[in-house]
Amino acid sequence: MGLDKNAIAELSAYRTETTKLIPNSKKPSKNFQLESSKIISYCDGVLLYNDRFTVTNVLPYSVELEKNSATDPAFFRPTPYVATNDFDFDYFEFLFSSPDTSLLTDLQLRILPDGADTAKYYYMSVFTRIPYGLPPNTPIRIRIHKSELTVTATPPPAGLTLTAGGYVELRVSGALGLKVKLINGLMGVKVKTPVMIQFDDGNLTVYEKAFPLMKARGIVGTFNVVTSFIGTEGNCSWEQLREMQDAGWTIASHSIDHVDHTLITEAQVITNLETAQQILASHGFTGSTLFTPPFNTFSTTLENRVRHVIRSRKYGDRWQDPIGFRQNVVGIQAKSVSDIDSPTILLADYALALASGKYFSACWHQFVDEVPTYQYAYQTSVFEEFLDLLVANDAYCCNAETFVDRCLITSRLV
Ligand SMILES: [Zn+2]
Repeated sequence: MGLDKNAIAELSAYRTETTKLIPNSKKPSKNFQLESSKIISYCDGVLLYNDRFTVTNVLPYSVELEKNSATDPAFFRPTPYVATNDFDFDYFEFLFSSPDTSLLTDLQLRILPDGADTAKYYYMSVFTRIPYGLPPNTPIRIRIHKSELTVTATPPPAGLTLTAGGYVELRVSGALGLKVKLINGLMGVKVKTPVMIQFDDGNLTVYEKAFPLMKARGIVGTFNVVTSFIGTEGNCSWEQLREMQDAGWTIASHSIDHVDHTLITEAQVITNLETAQQILASHGFTGSTLFTPPFNTFSTTLENRVRHVIRSRKYGDRWQDPIGFRQNVVGIQAKSVSDIDSPTILLADYALALASGKYFSACWHQFVDEVPTYQYAYQTSVFEEFLDLLVANDAYCCNAETFVDRCLITSRLV
């Protein structure tokens, strides 16, 4: 099927030699017999892996389910995974698609550590993470951090370990006629903490100072530009922005005029964002659908109205729990860096992100060679110190497009 090929091609693109694989030798078996569902087809699982992933466990099947009885729910219960130690990964992950997600009423991951005690389990419903109005058969990736699971036992078990007879279950519930495809079975993955180095507005010193320093270290950035600033005095030109994109940067929207979007009408905001997006797209910038609001101000009402423009914004919520999934709005938090934020302070934020399974994102505005006298100016040599700390710590630095497409828990593959 074309759908599988797309997903597989996308996944194959992630492949690197650094990956450790767990043998995927099991064949579909009676474990796939589903209450109130029938298997339409299945194939061997495809492993998702790239340089940020270590696949430590695979429940290896792809399967299509169809709800053809009123009995509910149907369970996708893969062959039990037998673990003797705590789950040695950060996230559970699966790939999911459906011709019509509106028929779905729940999608819940359950982990039953002890098959003899089925009242004790870890669980999480990920139903609300499926984007609203998802086009038919669009595969999306759902990722659940271990810490997000709720456990029914009191006190909770010390660790997330399956003992003999324990199993993992994906519970699919929905209306009659619901079809669901689980493309890869369920996987355990480890993800490196993404680091996004961002810049707002369009200042020329980003090109002149930050860009060469980052390029020399193999670090890519994200530049959120105000389209009317481009080519004006003290700001970057279209050619310079294109050079940055060619070097792996994301050039994204920061509105057409830097007006505070909480101070204008909804219609004006929508026009503003659409115009900025179109201008960037017409100049060939692939990050045109990514937007960061001027002054970090944006009303929640507007989020819903402008969702056709926005794929991300840089402030908001946790790495595990981006805002507004059903509106296809993804929250990406960024720290606005001021002159008093030393490399040590920034590195401490990065360490915090590492420890908590979140991402690190920070945003600069302009660079000066001397000690800054303006809050949003940053000394170039101090910025260089921070870059060296990132390199020394082997940080995974990516641009915003990569982050949205490949690092978020739920993202489209096509
Ligand atoms: Zn700004």
